[in-house]
Amino acid sequence: MEEKRQELADELFTSSGSLPDASAPCQINGDMLIHAGTGCAPEDDAPLALLLGVAVGDALGVPVEFRARGTFHVTGMQGYGTHNQPPGTWSDDTSLTLALADALLPDQCSMERIAAGFRNWYFHAAYTAHGKVFDVGNATARAIRRLQEGCAPEKAGGSEEQDNGNGSLMRIAPLVFFLSGTDDPRTRFSLVRKVSSITHAHSWSVAACFLYIELLDKILKGRSGAAGYEELKEEFRHHSFLHPATLARFDRLLKGDIRRLAERDIRSSGFVVDTLEAAVWCFLTTDNYRDAVLKAVNLGEDTDTTGAVTGALAGLAYGTRGIPGVWRRQLAGIEEIRRIALGLSRKAVCREHPATPGD
Ligand SMILES: [Mg+2]
Repeated sequence: MEEKRQELADELFTSSGSLPDASAPCQINGDMLIHAGTGCAPEDDAPLALLLGVAVGDALGVPVEFRARGTFHVTGMQGYGTHNQPPGTWSDDTSLTLALADALLPDQCSMERIAAGFRNWYFHAAYTAHGKVFDVGNATARAIRRLQEGCAPEKAGGSEEQDNGNGSLMRIAPLVFFLSGTDDPRTRFSLVRKVSSITHAHSWSVAACFLYIELLDKILKGRSGAAGYEELKEEFRHHSFLHPATLARFDRLLKGDIRRLAERDIRSSGFVVDTLEAAVWCFLTTDNYRDAVLKAVNLGEDTDTTGAVTGALAGLAYGTRGIPGVWRRQLAGIEEIRRIALGLSRKAVCREHPATPGD
């Protein structure tokens, strides 16, 4: 175990420049994803792969956020544009993802601890690429101000239909590492609901986060995207704890085959259901990280969040080496991302028993 942990630390703290560029994607062996170079399943690499996946997808989208589809074409990391930030700058999506990841403890998921991280970001620019908060969603800002006024974390998020922006979906991915040892889907759902509700408490936002976490969990456990998607659809037929009217919002994902939809039928707005559909579509209709996130960003509109949500799926599926080295080298704040990934890896490696929620 110690040797394995040291190897992991060496990998995480190696400069991004020395990580080999693996152009070869993972191989699919039955339903399992196997790294082409190592012959190993991707678990050890997973926290860094997921966080880098989010950050790179976010950074690719930041310069073109709000631009209409078809009016631009992103092919690589570029700077300035919408937010006038240098190349490699990631935004609130990654900041809040890092804050959540940093708050997770091996045996406890404390809402107070997560909320403290969110406040630290919003008011003190913690977890930022360049010490500055330049992008924040309205619902998230309102919730964090409520937290600052003393509101309990689970009551801070808006719960009306209009509060269904993608602000909790964009930051929820690291929770998969905490939940992967928990078998009961009701327990997993309960914790996802709590963590989403810190900023987004409506049932559509919660269900979108749960669906996303369940798909990430299947990828983490080695399923290919296609096999994981089929399992997901089958399992959701039996989740009686989800209200049928809520589930109906996800029919295009759960009853149909999202892969068959044409690009013109995929929306990339800031609505949580649109973002989830777009991310799963981009992930399942490509076979490598680069194509998945470029497809997501080039859908336009909420480019950084669609890139980030797609990036977590693709990062986890194809591993750190599946993310182009030139993009990793251009990424801002890479040491902060590595520090948090290492912490997450140690927590995941150390945890021997299924964890339970904290407060
Ligand atoms: Mg953003």
